Amino acid sequence: MSLIVHKYGGTSMGSTERIQNVARRVAKWHRAGHQMVVVPSAMSGETNRLLGLAREITDNPDPRELDQIAATGEQVSVGLLALALQKQGVKARSYTGWQVPVRTNSAYTKARIESIDDARVREDLGNGYVVIITGFQGIDGAGSITTLGRGGSDTSAVAVAAALKAEECLIYTDVDGVYTTDPRIEPDARRLAKITFEEMLEMASLGSKVLQIRSVEFAGKYKVKTRVLSSLTDPDIDLQEEAQSGTLITYEEDDTMEQAVISGIAFNRDEAKITIAGVPDKPGVAYRILGPVAQANVDVDMIIQNASHDGMTDFSFTVHRNELQKALDVLQAKVQPEINAREISGDNQICKVSVVGIGMRSHVGIASQMFETLAAEGINIQMISTSEIKISVVIADKYMELAVRALHKAFGLS
Ligand code: ASP
Ligand code: MG
Repeated sequence: MSLIVHKYGGTSMGSTERIQNVARRVAKWHRAGHQMVVVPSAMSGETNRLLGLAREITDNPDPRELDQIAATGEQVSVGLLALALQKQGVKARSYTGWQVPVRTNSAYTKARIESIDDARVREDLGNGYVVIITGFQGIDGAGSITTLGRGGSDTSAVAVAAALKAEECLIYTDVDGVYTTDPRIEPDARRLAKITFEEMLEMASLGSKVLQIRSVEFAGKYKVKTRVLSSLTDPDIDLQEEAQSGTLITYEEDDTMEQAVISGIAFNRDEAKITIAGVPDKPGVAYRILGPVAQANVDVDMIIQNASHDGMTDFSFTVHRNELQKALDVLQAKVQPEINAREISGDNQICKVSVVGIGMRSHVGIASQMFETLAAEGINIQMISTSEIKISVVIADKYMELAVRALHKAFGLS
């Protein structure tokens, strides 16, 4: 018998019929002798609806009140799930974040969990209850309700699993696991049986939007075994089979298993490139360009500076596409008068494609294989960045699908 946390997303909780399917699945695990804690999202579309109501009143809502409003979606879904479990003859009790309590900081709409009190939950589990805890929400030091940001129920579930030292955290969702790349782009993409949380972090931050990134960070930090699996299977399927399905995100690198060098190809269409051409190459220029950009709260991702010629150089970096105009405005207003560049230009027709894998640590030549593959397709590389387990390139947007497919094949993932 072990303590297991299940998380169900909005689609799985999308109707009272689906909620009853969730209850059947949870009841099956409970009957098999596990102590069960369930963390559901709001019913699908509900959080959008609630935030939309706020926007009907004002374009500039107070974030504290937004959280007060958005958190209600999860309160409804936990109560409904408790009723559905009781109907199955299972003792069940639901709690909101503040009742547990799940303590967070006061960063409304993107709060971070600080601690979770497990006393109440443990007592109920000891008395044979299935405990249902709202995802997405918590309470700050001043007693105000907070939310963890969109998709935050994933993080709630992993945090609850960490606090309770659960055996495993199972994240039931509408995809059946983590794939080598997006199957909509490469039909030959395969589901990975296992991935390390470090790789998952790279995959998640690059656009495989399976889990909220913060939940993966949490899983890595607190060593929570986390599994992503389908909620669309028959709720009555064999428990052993279900427990092995999906993708396990582990903190252990498994050397017994034959490890592919590359685990997946990730991509991101959300970035834009800014180029500042013809700036004097002298100390402090990078700071004079990026300082004001950072001050304007614009996140910068890749950065390159060319070798200089005749004392002049070009400088490029990428930002989120939504922030391109803001960054350009800052550069024109605050930076250009100081550096007197020949030209400042923005390009949002770019994308970032990355190969990800812990196997890279012990293999050389991955970068050259990647560049060779792109060259063979006639794709020009505009920027390159590397980390220990990832190589990313910026290329023209229109070649993204071609690049993903070519790399998927070249690295033997098909
Ligand atoms: N209901 C919240 C949202 O839609 C949290 C979640 O689903 O994870 O973002
Ligand atoms: Mg989600």
